[in-house]
Amino acid sequence: MSERPQPLRELLTGKGVRPTPRRLEVLEELAREGNDVTAQELWGRLRERDSGTGLATVYRTLSLLAEKGVVDVLSHHGGEQCYRLCGDGHHHHLVCTRCHRVVEVGECDLGGWLDDVASRHGFVATDHRVEIAGLCADCR
Ligand SMILES: [Zn+2]
Ligand SMILES: [Zn+2]
Ligand SMILES: [Zn+2]
Repeated sequence: MSERPQPLRELLTGKGVRPTPRRLEVLEELAREGNDVTAQELWGRLRERDSGTGLATVYRTLSLLAEKGVVDVLSHHGGEQCYRLCGDGHHHHLVCTRCHRVVEVGECDLGGWLDDVASRHGFVATDHRVEIAGLCADCR
C-alpha cells in the first residue's frame, strides 16, 4: 500500500465530503486493504468488527467516495465494481486477473499520444484511465 501521511478525515474534507463516522469507518476499512475490495467484501469485514453498518450504506458510501474522487473504482472482477484507496497523483493500475493484486503505476507517458488521437477526432483530451490486466509475478 502507498504511504498515506494524510489523515482520512482531512482526505474527505479536502474532497468536499463531510467526514461522518460511517464514511470514516468505510474509508478506514478500505485503507487496510492494499489491493481492492468489492462493497460486499468490505461489508463482510466491517461485520467481523461488529459494525452495525448495513450493506446498502456501504454501497452508497463507496459510490459517493468514488464520485467525489476519494477512492478509485476498478472493474476487473467480472463486472462487479471494486474500490481502492490510492495515492492522490495521476496514476494507472496494473491488476492481476488471477489473484486481484493491484499495483499503482505512477509514471504516465501517454499524454502526447492521447492528445494526438483526440485531436484527430476533433477532441481535446481532458482525462484518461488505464487499467492494465495481466498476471502478477506470483501468478505467472
Ligand atoms: Zn488508483
Ligand atoms: Zn496474481
Ligand atoms: Zn496517464
